Amino acid sequence: MQTQLADFISNTPQGREADAILRSCVHCGFCTATCPTYQLLGDEDDGPRGRIYLIKSVLEGNEATSLTQLHLDRCLTCRACETTCPSGVNYHRLLDIGRSEVDKQVPRPLFQRAIRALLLTIMPTRSLFSPLMKTGQWLRPSLPAFLKEKIPPRTTARLSPPVTQHGRKMLLLEGCVQPAMAPNINIATARVLDALGISLQPAPGAGCCGALRHHLNAQEAARNDMRRNIDAWWPALQAEAEAVVINTSGCAPQVKDYATLLADDPEYAAKAQDISRSSFDIAEILLREKEQLLAKLEESASPRAARKVAFQSPCTLQHGQSITGTVEQLLIAAGCDLVPVADGHLCCGSAGTYSIFQPTLSKQLRANKVSALTAGQPQEIATANIGCMSHLQPAVDIPVRHWIEIIDEALTDPG
Ligand code: SF4
Ligand code: SF4
Repeated sequence: MQTQLADFISNTPQGREADAILRSCVHCGFCTATCPTYQLLGDEDDGPRGRIYLIKSVLEGNEATSLTQLHLDRCLTCRACETTCPSGVNYHRLLDIGRSEVDKQVPRPLFQRAIRALLLTIMPTRSLFSPLMKTGQWLRPSLPAFLKEKIPPRTTARLSPPVTQHGRKMLLLEGCVQPAMAPNINIATARVLDALGISLQPAPGAGCCGALRHHLNAQEAARNDMRRNIDAWWPALQAEAEAVVINTSGCAPQVKDYATLLADDPEYAAKAQDISRSSFDIAEILLREKEQLLAKLEESASPRAARKVAFQSPCTLQHGQSITGTVEQLLIAAGCDLVPVADGHLCCGSAGTYSIFQPTLSKQLRANKVSALTAGQPQEIATANIGCMSHLQPAVDIPVRHWIEIIDEALTDPG
């Protein structure tokens, strides 16, 4: 694709990056067929190729309008288009740059700005989010349906964390909203790693990975989240910790992108590269330890009938990290009977705060996903991301759980 970026951006790092990405697109349109929003709306501008043209136009100096902003807002950042693209177009980075420029030109309505400011303040701050979530759970029975749906019923931490200290250590990204919404996920992660002779060590000072602020276009605040996490993890990684483990697939691509997102920060660029290299989704860690894990699962194998499970592979796992098939293999090894799920590449509509700002599209995508997941009549749904879990659960009457909880159960509570 030929480009001629305008003076305001052509000689900036973002301009050079956007230019290279735009030039790599051969506008073949293969990506359009796998884009969930194009499938629902049938408008070229609600598909990746159309959005690429919209961003190109703005970066070439043409005026952005509220319609440009709407088409970019409707993008889920699911990255299915990147998986399909034969030319390796780095769409999500182009979208970041495009959204940032469009938001500079098109002010958002006051109400939307207020909601975004609230979410940016509360959700990534565990000390604010946790008490508010507890209060919401307490008031849940009397809340209106649209709010009730966003607040899962209270779950207590029923699992006990491991006590043994092993020689092998790893750090855990504990997450900002996950501990309050589903406290058993981090404990189950620690228990599975404990069974493999690995201890999780705390990293006081670490917090939100930055994805939430980044995707709401608060990019400097997101970079501060990243710097804070690097400061918290760096000393432990220099000492005895082998890796940073991430069990929320929505956070893992962000941490793996620290190297790119802090590349122009002289103080943090090199450390960010090390952190990105040392950060792994829990599925990748278990794949590395697979032999030992399979032996442990074999030891604890139970004679009970296999449970029928539907696995919902989040976009952030399959498209954002290109992890496909690993979790499925581990669930089968843990005794699950995986039911087929049609259109597994399509987003469930959760996508961070998408369900708040694009409720109609989000609900349509969820309805499609739920019928695909339940077609094989599973007893439960397994996923890898707290966002997908809490988005899907109100729409089904079977449990939706993180897959690591099923592995933990197979290891320690074989029935
Ligand atoms: S598939 Fe890739 S190269 Fe083709 S239009 Fe889409 S982004 Fe461009
Ligand atoms: S990220 Fe997802 S929603 Fe956005 S253009 Fe690509 S496929 Fe479509």
